[in-house]
Amino acid sequence: MAQRYIYDSVESFLPDALRGFVAANPEIAWHRDPGFLARRAPTPPGRVAVLSGGGSGHEPMHSGLIGAGLLDAVCPGPIFTSPNALQIAGATRHVHSGAGVLHIVKNYTGDMMNFRIARDIVRDEGIDTDVVVVADDVATESAGDGPGRRGTGATIVVEKVCGAAAAGGATLSEVTVLGRRVADNARSMSVALDPCTVPGSDQPSFDLGPDEMELGIGIHGESGTERTQWRPAAQIVRTLLERILGSLDVAAGERVIVVVNGLGSTHPLELGLVFGHVLEQLRAAGIPVVRALVGTMVTALDMRGVSVTVARADDEIVGLWDAPTDAPAWPRLTAAEPGELMDTTVAEPDDAANSGPECGWLSAFVARVRGAIDELTALDRQVGDGDFGANMAAALGRFDLPLRGSDADVLDAIARSYFVRSGGTSGAVFGTLFRELSKAFAGDDDFPAALAAGTRAGLESVVELGGAQVGDNTVVDALHPANEALQQGDSLADAARAAAEGAESTRDRLARKGRASYVGEAARGAVDPGALVISWLFEAAADAG
Ligand code: ADP
Ligand code: MG
Repeated sequence: MAQRYIYDSVESFLPDALRGFVAANPEIAWHRDPGFLARRAPTPPGRVAVLSGGGSGHEPMHSGLIGAGLLDAVCPGPIFTSPNALQIAGATRHVHSGAGVLHIVKNYTGDMMNFRIARDIVRDEGIDTDVVVVADDVATESAGDGPGRRGTGATIVVEKVCGAAAAGGATLSEVTVLGRRVADNARSMSVALDPCTVPGSDQPSFDLGPDEMELGIGIHGESGTERTQWRPAAQIVRTLLERILGSLDVAAGERVIVVVNGLGSTHPLELGLVFGHVLEQLRAAGIPVVRALVGTMVTALDMRGVSVTVARADDEIVGLWDAPTDAPAWPRLTAAEPGELMDTTVAEPDDAANSGPECGWLSAFVARVRGAIDELTALDRQVGDGDFGANMAAALGRFDLPLRGSDADVLDAIARSYFVRSGGTSGAVFGTLFRELSKAFAGDDDFPAALAAGTRAGLESVVELGGAQVGDNTVVDALHPANEALQQGDSLADAARAAAEGAESTRDRLARKGRASYVGEAARGAVDPGALVISWLFEAAADAG
């Protein structure tokens, strides 16, 4: 198995991570003995302090939530292991400034015990404390009297609201009551496509088949409630929301805050996508989402997956959610209601090419390219990044054959389709060439003359655009010889032959332009796919003319 982490040694992984974290966040200090992080600014006299902590591996929670208006201190334990009672007692003492200290604790036995012992210790010193327990994970809900639900994503909602209330001057009992209200009214559930691996271990936390996913996964890689085949996002979200809303018993019209959270190795694009479904489904159920946080906040090391948290919100909670904080991991833009879900259908360019006389040569060209997508993909895999076939298919795949219209109109339709639908270099290069061809055909009724003029203009524009010369393994290697032949009045068949030979000449030469220039020796033996497609264009012209 490939190494999954960047580190110097397993033993120093956490301290080395902490070292960089504290240096990057100079408002936060590390207290080596007994081991906690705290704001450098002392708690103002008479203000309640808010303290959290737990096993490491869930960053940016909790360390990234230290700041004005959020947490005063955090006790990090070893990876996935509770901090010890002396760490917690030391941090409690440090942040106490006369008005008491609130502990926010996720519901795991080790955490519950150590925080409790710490409170017992400091009580004897006259420090007032209380606790809010977060137990939001519906995957661990059971009727019996087990340990109860695990604490997961809702923890950050509780921390934000309590931190803001404490900053606003609430008393310890007020902050505690409020925190419990938030915790009691929040539920979460997760799904993972990939387990997590503890640094230094060669075993992931569980095994998933190539096409499987796990629902109800815990933030320490505890396996979930249901293993299923991969499903589309909308269905996953439906399952998660069903469980969450069922447990929370939310009725239509009740306002909620939503957190869509990455579990460690999930791309921001996926988080946005999941949130879109959450918002759509909650709105369809008549549940207004008044605030949202979409980001990687509560991780399970490097797990690939997401958790969804729904928390009931009233005006007081929303106000505290919106209150400012300078905690480094709290996103700046959470204080607004989510907007409308936009229409994601792609705008269709006006390039039908389906009325008028048949345009035989371009129909033949388009058909030939469409029949060779796999071959073109394979060639670009060898000389480039493998997307050339897809780019050609995107540009040419949607036309109804045969193409209809004047040569100029069909060439223009193809040019626009290249620009709009085809990414990469080829969209720009082929779009430019077909645009020049279209302009030439619009100004000249004679087929060979228009082709010659268009080819010359196209070659000039492509060279000006990309700076490629003959020998660089690009479309220019086919375009240039075809243009030479046409300018000296050779037949279309000769021009097509020249283009084909030019394309073939790229086979054993190393590229200097385009993506192929990055792959070097690996590209030897394959023709440049762009040049090959150009040669097909001239062959189609020769066959027709
Ligand atoms: P990308 O390089 O962005 O992956 P494509 O795979 O869609 O783009 O297109 C690659 C083709 O573009 C190459 O086969 C080559 O013929 C052509 N090409 C690359 N660079 C240039 C350039 N500077 N001028 C003209 N054509 C180029
Ligand atoms: Mg490519």
